[in-house]
Amino acid sequence: MKKTFSIGGVHPDDKKISAGCAIEVLPTPKTVYISMAQHLGGPAKAVVAAGDRVKTGQVIGEPTGFISAYVHSSVTGTVKSVGLRKDLAGIPVVHVEIDVEPDEWVETADTTDTLVTEIPQDPKFIVDRIKANGVVGLGGATFPTSVKLCPPPDKKADILILNGAECEPYLTSDYRIMIEKSRQIVVGAALMKRVLGVHKVVIGIEENKPEAIAKMSEAVSSLAAGSGDYAGIEVITLKKKYPQGGEKQLIDAITRRQVKSMGLPIDVGAVVQNVATSLAVYDAVQKNRPLIDNTITVTGDCFPRQSNVLVRVGTPLSYIIDSLGGIPENAAKAISGGPMMGKAIANLDAATLKGTSSILFLTEEQTRRKPESNCIRCGRCVEACPMGLEPFLLNKLARNGMTDELEQNGVQDCIECGCCLYSCPANIPLLDSIRIAKGEVIRIIRSRTAPKK
Ligand code: SF4
Ligand code: SF4
Repeated sequence: MKKTFSIGGVHPDDKKISAGCAIEVLPTPKTVYISMAQHLGGPAKAVVAAGDRVKTGQVIGEPTGFISAYVHSSVTGTVKSVGLRKDLAGIPVVHVEIDVEPDEWVETADTTDTLVTEIPQDPKFIVDRIKANGVVGLGGATFPTSVKLCPPPDKKADILILNGAECEPYLTSDYRIMIEKSRQIVVGAALMKRVLGVHKVVIGIEENKPEAIAKMSEAVSSLAAGSGDYAGIEVITLKKKYPQGGEKQLIDAITRRQVKSMGLPIDVGAVVQNVATSLAVYDAVQKNRPLIDNTITVTGDCFPRQSNVLVRVGTPLSYIIDSLGGIPENAAKAISGGPMMGKAIANLDAATLKGTSSILFLTEEQTRRKPESNCIRCGRCVEACPMGLEPFLLNKLARNGMTDELEQNGVQDCIECGCCLYSCPANIPLLDSIRIAKGEVIRIIRSRTAPKK
C-alpha cells in the first residue's frame, strides 16, 4: 500500500504544467547580486570589496556563527559594490554586486560531468566539504546542511529520508532533477548515509511522478549493484496528498514516528534532506564544487513559456522573466514557491538565492479573495489540518490576542501549510491570523527558555 501521513491533508489540483520541460541552462546576466543572507541563521560576512576580481566558486562571504554558511561567487568578474539591496520581500540585505566576465572556475573545483561514485571513508572529510562549499537545505528552510548532519552526541539518527515529494502545486524543479540527475542524487544520499552512520535511506516520491520514481529506482539498483556503500537505500512511492513533503508528515508517512510539539526529526531518530540538497552534497563532496546555481521552475497558467531553468545564484528575477518572454499581461501576482506556502514577490529586481525554487505567476482571478462570512462550525479546517490543530479556534483566539490559550492549543506547531484556509467554505483567512499569532507565541516561548543574562 502507498504510504502517506496519518491525519489531515488536502488534494489541490497539482498543476504540474512545466513537468515536461527539461532543465535549460540560462546564460549568465551582465551583473549578479549575491545576498549574504542565503541561509537560516547568521548572515555571512562579505570578505571582498569593490574592485576585487573574483573567480567562479571563490568564497565571498564567510559564516558568522555556528548556524551560518559560506557564500561563493557564482560568476567570474569584478566586484562593483558591497552594500544594501532589497531582497524578494523588499527588505534591505547586504549583497555583493559583480560585473560578469567569461567563466573561470577556482582551480579546486572539478567542473567535468564525470560521475564519481566512490564514497570517501572519512565522515569528517565529507562534512568539511559540505560546509566549505556552502551547502544549505534546498527544501525551503535553507538550514546549513553540515550542521543538520552533525546532531548533538545524545541524539542518534537511524534513518535518512530524502524528500522527493514536491507536493506543492506547479513546482517541478525537484521532479526534473530526479529525472536528469538521479545518480548524483543517490550518490549524495550515500554520502549523507556515511556521515550519519545509518543503514537505512528512504527516498519518498509521490505517485504522480512515475518517471521520477522509475529513474531514481534505476539509479539506486545500478549503484547498489556496484558497491556496498549503496546498500539500504530504497525508493518509496507515496500517496499524492498535500503537505506530504512537510518534514513531520514525511517522517510519519515513512516510519509512523511522531515528532512531538516543538520537537525535531532527530528526536525520533530521523534526518530529512531534500533531493536538491542531496544533489548539492554530491557536487560539494565528489566535485569540490560550491553551491553556486540551482534549478528554478518558472510557471503559471498565464505564463506561456513554462520552464525549468538552471541559473546562477544572484541572477535578478527580472532577467530570468525577460529571458523567458516577460511578465504575462494578465499576471496579477508573482510568488516565490508554490501557491500553498510560497511568499509573494514584492520586488522583481531581487536576485535569486540558493533556496529559490520557483517564480509562479497568478492571475487576478486566482488571487482574488472571496468575501469572508461567519464560521459555520463545519469542522472542515480541523479535518484538513495535518498537525491535528483546531484552526477555527486558533483564529478566534488570535483575533482576541489570547496568547496563553493559543499556546495551550498548539499554535506553535502550525506548519503554515494553508490546508485550513484551502478548506474553509466561509473563506476565512485563517492562516493570516494564525501565522502572526504563532510568531508571537514562539517569541514568548523562546524568551521563557532563553538563558538569563
Ligand atoms: S496552516 Fe497551520 S493550522 Fe492551518 S492546517 Fe496548516 S498546520 Fe493546521
Ligand atoms: S472550515 Fe471555516 S467555517 Fe468550517 S469550522 Fe473551520 S473556520 Fe469555520
